[in-house]
This record gives sequence, C-alpha cells and structure tokens, in this order.
Amino acid sequence: MFSISIIFGEALDLKNGPYILVKAPADFPGKKYRGVYAYEHTVIWWLHTKIIPPEGYQIHHKNECRTDNRFENLEMVFKTTHMKLHRAAKPCAFTLLICAHCNKPFQLESRRYREKKKLGQEYFHCSRVCQTRNQRNIIKLNHMKQAA
Ligand SMILES: [Zn+2]
Ligand SMILES: [Zn+2]
Repeated sequence: MFSISIIFGEALDLKNGPYILVKAPADFPGKKYRGVYAYEHTVIWWLHTKIIPPEGYQIHHKNECRTDNRFENLEMVFKTTHMKLHRAAKPCAFTLLICAHCNKPFQLESRRYREKKKLGQEYFHCSRVCQTRNQRNIIKLNHMKQAA
C-alpha cells in the first residue's frame, strides 16, 4: 500500500498501513511521529473540533475508506464500539487511478470516482497540491488553445 498526501507543505511517503500521514500544524497537540508527522484524520478532526481523541477513543471512517479524511466521513467512537462497527461493515471498493500531475498511482473510493466522472471530471489527482499545480497547467493550456 502506498499513498502520499500533502496538506501542510511537505509530502511524506506512507508505506506502513492504509492511513495518510501529514506534517502536523505547529500548534497540533496530538501524537506526532518523528516529532513532525501526524495522522491526517486526527489533524482534520482536531482542526474542526479542537479535540484530540482521549484515551480509549478512536477516529472511525464512516465509509470504511481509511484515506477518505473529509471531516464528514469521520467520527470519534470508543474502542469497543469501533470494533463492532468494523465487524458489521462491508469493505468499500476502490478504483486505482494515476495522478494527472505526478503520475503516481493512488486509490479513490469507487463510488466517489463514479460521482465525479458523472459530473464531468476528467483529471484526478493524488493530493490537493497536485490538483492545484495541475489546475494551473490546465488553465494555461486552455489559454493557449484560445489564443491559437
Ligand atoms: Zn474505523
Ligand atoms: Zn500527484
């Protein structure tokens, strides 16, 4: 499993499990790895609620996609409740995509991929940074097309 995510500047390769690590904001009070990185879902939860899950509590991904760290996909649950949720859940299907900017493979939940395709999205990106960078290229390309 390989994924990469950039939210707060620096990118980090994560080869250890399905979770995304990001460079934590300077004032992030939660657990950091190598003094710098934190789980993206914990950072997102904290940014919205100002809460770090207390001992015994965990962040659950409602749609079972552990890389889908939109706040509305997260909830804080007690460990034992969390285990029950996972036993009851069906695994979600992923679509393997190639980033339109950096050409790295990444996964997107198939249901979200189909929704975006339906809305006419042609380009998919592994991270917000790639999306922003590629957007500039697409806009430039459109300018060139119009000029020609
Ligand atoms: Zn969970
Ligand atoms: Zn990319």
